Amino acid sequence: MTGLTREHVRVAVIGTGFGGLGAAVRLRREGITDFVLLERADSVGGTWRDNTYPGCACDVPSHLYSFSFAPNPAWPRNFSGQKHIRAYLEHVTDTFGLRPHIRFNAEVRDLRWDADALHWEIDTARGPLTADVVVSATGPLSDPKIPDIPGVDSFPGKVFHSARWDHDYDLRGKRVAMIGTGASAIQIVPAIQRDVKHLTLFQRTPPWVLPRADRRISGLEKWLHTRVPATRALRRQLLWGIRELQVSAFTRYPDQLGLIENLALGHMRRVVRDPALRAKLTPDYRIGCKRILLSNTYYPALAQPNVDLVAAGLKEVRGSTLVASDGTETEVDAVIFGTGFHVTDSPMARYVTGAGGISLAAEWKDGMEGLRGTTVAGFPNFVQIIGPNTGLGNSSMILIIEAQLNYLIDYLRQLDGLGGKVALDPRPAAQRAWNEKIQRRMERTVWNTGGCQSWYLDANGRNTTVWPGTTSAFQAATRRVDLAEYEVLRAPARTAGAHAEPEEAIA
Ligand code: NAP
Repeated sequence: MTGLTREHVRVAVIGTGFGGLGAAVRLRREGITDFVLLERADSVGGTWRDNTYPGCACDVPSHLYSFSFAPNPAWPRNFSGQKHIRAYLEHVTDTFGLRPHIRFNAEVRDLRWDADALHWEIDTARGPLTADVVVSATGPLSDPKIPDIPGVDSFPGKVFHSARWDHDYDLRGKRVAMIGTGASAIQIVPAIQRDVKHLTLFQRTPPWVLPRADRRISGLEKWLHTRVPATRALRRQLLWGIRELQVSAFTRYPDQLGLIENLALGHMRRVVRDPALRAKLTPDYRIGCKRILLSNTYYPALAQPNVDLVAAGLKEVRGSTLVASDGTETEVDAVIFGTGFHVTDSPMARYVTGAGGISLAAEWKDGMEGLRGTTVAGFPNFVQIIGPNTGLGNSSMILIIEAQLNYLIDYLRQLDGLGGKVALDPRPAAQRAWNEKIQRRMERTVWNTGGCQSWYLDANGRNTTVWPGTTSAFQAATRRVDLAEYEVLRAPARTAGAHAEPEEAIA
């Protein structure tokens, strides 16, 4: 450490998506103002800022996909589009007075635990600072993943990822290849199909697609939701309750999902008349194993004469020719990768160095693991929003985020209660017990037994992303910080080179 004094804050929050902004609101409500939000971009919104592709919308109803503490009676549709969700997050930022806390263009490059000072040293693109507690709210859908396809670098045309849409590139009249058939791709395909000259869709695995019950929310409903807030709350409760009831089919009785498969197959049959195309589009794994997709426009778009479905992954690029793994060759002008994000191998983990001097990426080399999806042994005072095993297959991630924010606030209260300069480090045994319980519950779930390969599973085939239960079970598990699960670290008396000492936990 040099003689220069760095800026110090109590809490540094990384990211200004739903997780980061939600954390900021809760901190302010707790009376904590000594915090910053570090944002790598120049505006708020996280994944809802970055994903601007045509057709981008959320397939969780907006009245559930929003903060409980910031209801929006004016949601325009059941499933609102990206522009409205982004505008909502801008509105939350202003309403709760968060802007003065935000440092834009402040990408975090290095995050290092100082075991002597009991704080995090943070290096950002806008300079260094230190913080007692770091809240990492970088989100699992922030770093686009483009597969390593031989020859793609020498493709002479245009190449971009769905989350980095190039709006300056005019797709009209072009031969376009869409790679992937996930939630992003199935929204993009119908949105661009009419404009392009020809669209070739590279499908490695067919998704299950259900009809999308979308509609405009009427003026009367909005009026009622504004004037009688209980109607808005009731709507949210209903949307939440239905999804809670569905959970056991995913987690314990995947065979029950056969009924839903019939719905999806009927939906396809009604639209796709060509039996050969239907065969290519029919999944051979249990519905729910991969994320269930919702669309009324995807199948009709695929049935149009200017669309070809290649039922194989992209294997190689030779000049302007794309070669699929079944040998099909297609010449195109532009390639759009709808190939998802670095979820189980978050690049951010490389920049976080914990108490033992090793990075979070190294700690997680055999798979992500945390305590209650929120903290990680060896990384004191590091609170992760949407950490390991917190993802949902069928409901709103905002419910998980808010549960973790409760945990964060209780964590800060516990630190205050302990007094003095202290930090909490999860006990490895507590973390192990938590993960053993999760993996035991995972055994029967559709994500593990449904017969598919998905990004829910890591390189070792372990499900480190999904929460195998209801959102209320997760809320209960994160309501309070149990100090018995933590080692309490205290700063030693000021002697040179001394390290923080663990003390017996106060249960
Ligand atoms: P994704 O679900 O990870 O899908 C990636 C797609 O790329 C998969 O279909 C995958 O095939 C395919 N792929 C990968 N390499 C390929 C190759 N070489 N050739 C052909 N296909 C290849 O990514 P995403 O669609 O961006 O969605 C990510 C997550 O974002 C979603 O699960 C959801 O949580 C969220 N999201 C939500 C919405 C919404 O609310 N409507 C919209 C967009 C995104 P395989 O299936 O064979 O692996």
